[in-house]
Amino acid sequence: MQTIKVNIVTPDGPVSETEADMVIAATETGEIGILPGHIAMVAPLQIGALRLKKGSSTENVAVHGGFIEVRPDVVTVLAQHAEMASNIDIERAKRAAKRAEEALRAKTDKLEAQLVELDLKRAMNRIKVYEMK
Ligand code: ATP
Repeated sequence: MQTIKVNIVTPDGPVSETEADMVIAATETGEIGILPGHIAMVAPLQIGALRLKKGSSTENVAVHGGFIEVRPDVVTVLAQHAEMASNIDIERAKRAAKRAEEALRAKTDKLEAQLVELDLKRAMNRIKVYEMK
């Protein structure tokens, strides 16, 4: 069976260089499935899960925004932060979510609230991807 190369990169360095049968990504306009030979495209990503299907198993990655570039033989994800499910510190993510929820309840200005909402989204995404294992 044909596979597609997958590179996930952040400013801190490569997070994963692997091969998959299929990649499922949460783009800003919805979820897309990418098989080998997919037409070239670039799309912005949501804070969400990237799923790498390999045979009967799936590797899940928490991706925090950024872009996906698809070419027929390689998928590149460029994100500010990305963590493989197995590298997620679940207790840290739960603490971050709790902190963000408490901060949202406290009186903050609109800009501060938007930043805290993003903190909460990242933490909730890490929890969701960890629980997909
Ligand atoms: P925290 O408040 O726990 O530091 P944060 O949302 O501020 O979380 P980020 O700014 O999104 O963290 O990420 C900073 C760095 O820490 C990145 O390299 C990211 O991959 C890593 N990181 C953040 N939270 C976790 C986690 N729960 N498990 C593993 N790595 C994490």
